[in-house]
Amino acid sequence: MTELVASGIPYRDTFWNIPMWARVFVYVGGTAAIAVFAWGSWQRVAVWLEGGPERRTDRIPERLGLVLTQVLGQARILSQAYPGIMHAIVFWGFLALFIGTVLATIDYDVTLPLLHVKLLKGNFYLLYELVLDMFGLFFVVGLGMACWRRFVKRPSRIEPAGQFAYALLILFVINATGFVMEACRLAVVKPAWAAWSPVGYVLGQAMLAVGLGEGALRGTHLSIWVFHAAIAFVFIALIPQSYFMHLVTTPLNIFFSKLGPRGALRKIENIEEAESLGVGKFEEFSWKRRLDFDACVECGRCQDVCPAHLSGSALNPKRVIVKLKRYMLDGDTRPLHGEVIQADELWACTTCMACVQECPAHIDIVDTIVDLRRFLALSEGALPSTAPLALQNIQRAGNPWGLPPTERLKWAEGLDVPVLEEGKRVEYLYWVGCSASYDRRNQSIARSVVKILKKAGVSFAVMAEERCHGEVARRLGEEYLYQTVTTENVENIKKYAFDKVITHCPHCFNTIKNEYPQFDGNFEVLHHSVVIADLVRSGRVKPTKATDQTVAFHDSCYLGRYNGIFEAPRETARSVPGLRLIEMPRNRERGLCCGGGGGQMWMETPAKKRVNLIRVEEALESKPDVVGVACPFCLAMVDLGRKVAGAEETLQVKDISELVAESLE
Ligand code: SF4
Ligand code: SF4
Repeated sequence: MTELVASGIPYRDTFWNIPMWARVFVYVGGTAAIAVFAWGSWQRVAVWLEGGPERRTDRIPERLGLVLTQVLGQARILSQAYPGIMHAIVFWGFLALFIGTVLATIDYDVTLPLLHVKLLKGNFYLLYELVLDMFGLFFVVGLGMACWRRFVKRPSRIEPAGQFAYALLILFVINATGFVMEACRLAVVKPAWAAWSPVGYVLGQAMLAVGLGEGALRGTHLSIWVFHAAIAFVFIALIPQSYFMHLVTTPLNIFFSKLGPRGALRKIENIEEAESLGVGKFEEFSWKRRLDFDACVECGRCQDVCPAHLSGSALNPKRVIVKLKRYMLDGDTRPLHGEVIQADELWACTTCMACVQECPAHIDIVDTIVDLRRFLALSEGALPSTAPLALQNIQRAGNPWGLPPTERLKWAEGLDVPVLEEGKRVEYLYWVGCSASYDRRNQSIARSVVKILKKAGVSFAVMAEERCHGEVARRLGEEYLYQTVTTENVENIKKYAFDKVITHCPHCFNTIKNEYPQFDGNFEVLHHSVVIADLVRSGRVKPTKATDQTVAFHDSCYLGRYNGIFEAPRETARSVPGLRLIEMPRNRERGLCCGGGGGQMWMETPAKKRVNLIRVEEALESKPDVVGVACPFCLAMVDLGRKVAGAEETLQVKDISELVAESLE
């Protein structure tokens, strides 16, 4: 050290102006704070571990990649401009200051005494000072943005609660006192490299300008240093009991995220003998679900995008997750169903996945809602409204309307549609689905798909034994029925020889592609938008008849958010000459649900304004001639919505296959 002083090389003088008693205080206090933090954290982990098992330790490199992009890169957080930038600079500022403190500790307490190596010296030290000063400044800016948003702008999705005021205040005080200490030191020592700490330097010059002498500067430095250390220790010790616990829970929850298809719900294994069917008591949640609840930062992003909440129904996903979090942390013992979570909240969910898409903590909100639904459906038999009838119809007749299975192929009359025969191979099994098989309006979708496939010379056939794929039963929590129909469907499909399954329904697509593998049904499944776009691209289908229509495309949740297919339906629509494709304000990942998913097609849930009407009003603002869809349920919901909105004469709704089929010679 003495050589460094003599040589004039810049270096960090860790305990400048600090007497021995204060040094002892910092080591004793720091150790105590870390011990309290470790104990508090363990208490939280113990609460999670009381939950049931769930395997989340596979695919470690992928999990680390998620932490890298979502925690360090703040990718999802930054998808919203103001709150994203605000959080990212607070986080990065905090991280830089934390790394800086750790580096200083290693430098003074490890490398210097053990290896006689001073890390923080020379150009590296100058860079260290500059980076820390700049990140400290960003940190203050971010905290200011947070205060402005939470206490002045006050968006309805967040509460200006005391815990947040305390959180912001403590961070500000730690950071500001750090700058004051630095300023005092630079003002007294006046090192040649002082300008490498620009904030401290300017502040120090200001202190000198107002006439503070060395004695006052040294006294201020020492008292602020002790205060800074004390408040930092309180901060560390209180992390497990405070809002700051999300510094631990969010990265952990992201690491243990659900990988694989987002749209695949958990299978209840050995359902005949299973002890618990869904979640009836809090103890039945797995450890991961408990970590989910604890990771909630109460940001309200889920609430903002939830169609059920927008429609004024009983459901607010943020409220559901926060209630479960408080229930867990308070050791509440009230009955979960009926007292804490109301059935109306659960049944209002459209399973659109918008909340999961937005949640910065990667919480599996839909899986939790379905687990709670499963208990109501399977253990209590408490399905709402007309849902029981739809499920009975699926069980009895293989479709939710209860129409005769013998009429399933009536839509194909006169079209010479090939039917699968054992021993005869085709390229595609065309899975038509219940809606286009029985619903008069939607039969036109199946006829359009057939017209396109025939025009392209594609080898395909439908399956005479086709029945409802059961997805609606699974989303309603009736896992038993789902497993029964799925097992039967998989057995039937396996009798035939084909290369791929094609379906125009995103619900059929999602369940056959992502959920049938749980039942040994591994098929390559393609949505019709992907196949048609490919046929047009390769020139096998040539839409030639021009149209003069403006089409606003509405994304299906089960195609887009569930399976990441956004471009193919747009490409398909754009292939029609003269068609002008426009976007509604909420589109792609942020498209608004039609209101028909999660069993909503088959029941009435109380709401102030129907989701499909909200969506149609949004479409009307864009002034299209047609709403383009790629899902028969979206078609039915938008069709109903336009009638309610009184736009039957001015607004049409068409599937992309209909748009292309109309354009074929
Ligand atoms: S899935 Fe959709 S409807 Fe259900 S809670 Fe999430 S955002 Fe709301
Ligand atoms: S569930 Fe996710 S999006 Fe909703 S409030 Fe909690 S952290 Fe925010």
